[in-house]
Amino acid sequence: MKYLLLIGLALIVLWFFRKLNRRRSGTGRASAGRRPERMVQCARCGIHLPESESIRDGAVHYCCHEHRLDRHDP
Ligand SMILES: [Zn+2]
Repeated sequence: MKYLLLIGLALIVLWFFRKLNRRRSGTGRASAGRRPERMVQCARCGIHLPESESIRDGAVHYCCHEHRLDRHDP
């Protein structure tokens, strides 16, 4: 009966460490994924921003939705 408790405890410890390792490798991967992001320029105000944060409209990019709408106004 004592062994059963020990095995259970060992499993919990094992699970805990596995979870800890996964979290550590996850953050490591995030920092390792320092792929240089392409910078784009807002067609309205000319500010530079990462492509993922920009609003794309065909071949041009904008920093915000307002600037994208602004362009279409006369
Ligand atoms: Zn802009």
